[in-house]
Amino acid sequence: MRFGDGNRSIILTARHHACESTGSYVLEGVLDDLIDNPIEGFQILCVPFVDYDGVIDGDQGKNRVPHGHNRDYSDENPPIFPETSRIIEYTENNNVCYGFDFHSPWHRGWEHDNVYIVQSSIEKLVRLDLFGEILEKSITDKAMRYWHKNDYPPETGWNRAGSQFAAYLNDVGSTL
Ligand SMILES: [Zn+2]
Repeated sequence: MRFGDGNRSIILTARHHACESTGSYVLEGVLDDLIDNPIEGFQILCVPFVDYDGVIDGDQGKNRVPHGHNRDYSDENPPIFPETSRIIEYTENNNVCYGFDFHSPWHRGWEHDNVYIVQSSIEKLVRLDLFGEILEKSITDKAMRYWHKNDYPPETGWNRAGSQFAAYLNDVGSTL
């Protein structure tokens, strides 16, 4: 799905992990809002089902051999999935300034009881904190509640640099 006009881009993706359906509901709300309130100067590319075959097959999507879609953004090896290859091609050619990849690995327990942003890098922490503060103030009663304090810091727990999509977006210089 592509909409909006401008020489800068925002890329929105979901289902790098096929089973993580809750992220799709959040993405749907984001799309509704962006269609009602377009951002001047930006085109939006949305890939709602990156692992479409996995979604159709009812595949969980993680722990594939040699890896799943979310680990297909390696510096050392070319992508093995056509979807990730096309996302990389788009990102390299369309001045992508912001990228958001929606996940929902668990539905209950620990940090997964809340909406949170996985903060992608220490270098961008000031901007990520600012984004979280703005988002928290912008949330209305129509949306799932979000508190910036629940964001997942970079280089913590499982949030380490690697070959996942978020790390790739860092490498190509997206702002978030
Ligand atoms: Zn995931």
